[in-house]
Amino acid sequence: MLRLPQFELTEPATLAEACALLAEHGDQAQLIAGGTDLLPNMKHELFTPRVVISLAKLRELHGLCVESDGTLVLGAMTSLDTLAHDERVRARAPALAQAAGLVAGPQLRRMGTLGGNVMLDTRCQWYNQTYFWRSALGFCLKKDGSACHVVAGGAKCVAAASNDTAPALMSLDAMLVFQGGAGFHGGPGRRTLAIDELYTADGIHNKSSRAEILVEVRVPPVPPGHRGAYGKLRERGSIDFPLLGLAARVDLSPAGEVVAAALCAVALQARPLRLQKAIRPLLGTRPGTPAFRSALESAGELARKQCHPLANIPGDPDYRREMVPVYVRRTLTAAVEGTGPVHHI
Ligand SMILES: Cc1cc2nc3c(=O)[nH]c(=O)nc-3n(C[C@H](O)[C@H](O)[C@H](O)COP(=O)(O)OP(=O)(O)OC[C@H]3O[C@@H](n4cnc5c(N)ncnc54)[C@H](O)[C@@H]3O)c2cc1C
Ligand code: SF4
Repeated sequence: MLRLPQFELTEPATLAEACALLAEHGDQAQLIAGGTDLLPNMKHELFTPRVVISLAKLRELHGLCVESDGTLVLGAMTSLDTLAHDERVRARAPALAQAAGLVAGPQLRRMGTLGGNVMLDTRCQWYNQTYFWRSALGFCLKKDGSACHVVAGGAKCVAAASNDTAPALMSLDAMLVFQGGAGFHGGPGRRTLAIDELYTADGIHNKSSRAEILVEVRVPPVPPGHRGAYGKLRERGSIDFPLLGLAARVDLSPAGEVVAAALCAVALQARPLRLQKAIRPLLGTRPGTPAFRSALESAGELARKQCHPLANIPGDPDYRREMVPVYVRRTLTAAVEGTGPVHHI
């Protein structure tokens, strides 16, 4: 049986108190929301924090509302299950609701939070293993070792961003509100950054945020013709992390033409990927027409060119690459037809 290492649990009652604890304990501290990823990682000794700071009692991180201009405000402690079922989220951000609804399984979605998902550690089949397993291999760059088992001779970790909500939030141009304590990002206070600015290409720590607390996620209003869907390739129909996650956004004009689109992918590299070139053929086309069907083919092919799966997560990389155009076509179609999510049972 895997046991948790010793740690001290703190349960601050205010955000200011939590930020002060973070600032005080620095690298020795770790935040815990639902704990569905942190605790297994601690059992694997990937993280051995001396102090664990619970976010459960922080009022500012709870709740979900729609502001008068249509902005969806999601507290970081909102559960994935709530996101998947809330009608306000389903109507304004279908790709996000669908992505949240495909994370892990029902129990984990009830415990797991949006904040924990956005801030999820990267994953790799050589890293998400027990200490004993990793020690037999001499560990790796990301934790305790000096070599990468994915890229021979590689000096950089390429563990994969595997959080399902990240590409959905990117497709929605979500903004993240962080609160930091003294000494971080120029001192205590709040900052807001676009989700695209959060993730970096460094698999060891793929976020530009350190020692800050994600307070809320703000999803800007979408136009009436907004359509969205999430597609997830995985080995089993539940529980599994994505082998490929794809969020599709299509905004239609009143005349039914594609006026804006987004395709964002996860489970490829350390940062979720915006497939910018792939959306171009779609613009100006009208779903249901031969031009749109042809644009789907082109979008799939352009996406395949941009996606280069690695042996960082399970699943044959060549197979995962061949599935990119398939998921691009299916997820875009599901978005315009309102039939998402796309996944196998
Ligand atoms: C069997 C299994 C299957 C899974 N399958 C999937 C899957 O398919 N897709 C997927 O995306 N995830 C999956 N997960 C991972 C996890 O359940 C989810 O990602 C979940 O959303 C994590 O949220 P949490 O609240 O439990 O995070 P926690 O485990 O509490 O925290 C995760 C990380 O985020 C940090 N953190 C949490 N909240 C904040 C905050 N507000 N501000 C700053 N940092 C914060 C923590 O310090 C920690 O580093 C799976 C987990 C398991 C055990
Ligand atoms: S890609 Fe995997 S094996 Fe390579 S350093 Fe990162 S976690 Fe370790």
